Amino acid sequence: MLGKLNMDEFAMGSSNETSAFGPVVSPWRREGSNVSAGASGAIEGTHLVPGGSSGGSAAAVAAHLCLGATATDTGGSIRQPAAFTGTVGIKPTYGRVSRWGTVAFASSLDQAGPITRTVRDSAIMLRSMASPDPKDTTCVDLPVPDFEAAISRGVKGLKIGIPKEYRIDGMSPEIEQLWHQGAEWLRAAGAEIVEVSLPHTKYALPAYYIVAPAEASSNLARYDGVRYGLRENGRDIVDLYEKSRAAGFGREVKRRIMIGTYVLSAGYYDAYYVRAQKLRTLIKRNFEEVYAQGVHAILTPATPSAAFGIGEKGSGDPVEMYLNDIFTVPVNMAGLPGIAVPAGFDSQGLPLGLQLIGRAFDEETLFAAGQVIEDSAGRIKLPPAWWA
Ligand code: GLN
Repeated sequence: MLGKLNMDEFAMGSSNETSAFGPVVSPWRREGSNVSAGASGAIEGTHLVPGGSSGGSAAAVAAHLCLGATATDTGGSIRQPAAFTGTVGIKPTYGRVSRWGTVAFASSLDQAGPITRTVRDSAIMLRSMASPDPKDTTCVDLPVPDFEAAISRGVKGLKIGIPKEYRIDGMSPEIEQLWHQGAEWLRAAGAEIVEVSLPHTKYALPAYYIVAPAEASSNLARYDGVRYGLRENGRDIVDLYEKSRAAGFGREVKRRIMIGTYVLSAGYYDAYYVRAQKLRTLIKRNFEEVYAQGVHAILTPATPSAAFGIGEKGSGDPVEMYLNDIFTVPVNMAGLPGIAVPAGFDSQGLPLGLQLIGRAFDEETLFAAGQVIEDSAGRIKLPPAWWA
């Protein structure tokens, strides 16, 4: 273990701007950008976010500070930062990796996985991270395959689905083009590309922003300044609770706790929480139906855009930030594995990623298809150390 890395507070965020320690700076710069490390070592100019919430992990791997890093993904926090930094990130099937030792955000969605520079490194690292664990009852008792062996399998004879509902308004033409390119690479390697339909996709993000805050409000109740978390002394116990919780959480975390408490409260529970759970079942069923048609994996863009600048998104409307996870969230809602692999660049020279979504506990197919994308795209050249 080399050290601990920065992240969004309680893993809530898509840019690392909610971190209590200040934002992570991406090692990537837009073409022609004047961002540099100043004489004092301070970063000058508009720098880019590495994505979030595991942005520290992604930035450290992309900056060659380490070979690989652990990360967690509740709605996209491994795959979105990997896509923003030209690295590989896999969110394994829910239950593949133990959550023991992870601070719980939304327990029915949280899953740990690696961020690495190559698909092979990802396979090696996941193999050592995955195992049954009596300390996490959601962790399944399945043998861990040799993921590294799977990377050379290729995709000959595999059926890869392209979901039409992932073609969203306002998606950049570069992403659309990259997606098409990815499908062509897989076809050239012997896969059959088929159009599939996941009709409930559009409900995944709104349902996630009910389920995840509901679980978070419950999980974060323990940070009361008595048993867990920051303590601010008060006149009496109620005052201590109030002061501790007011000082111990940032704005975004408070927003989630309030949303979660609201959707779980008597009178609103059926209208919000129960309906979101029903949608979750339908989203999961959509995937099952596609896989029942013989589809082995699904190809989508990882994110609707490349990395943005610090302060550029979400300051007025938090939903603008939430939309970053539009392609990754359905995978968590369905408990399935998803991998983000770097596949190209946008017009500003920033990396873009493709996502492959697999059948439950079939990460091997994701490594096999991910390797085909990596081989076809060519290994992404990571940025030089301008900060050193
Ligand atoms: N960005 C999403 C959120 O803010 C996902 C976070 C995550 O996967 N930890 O909830």
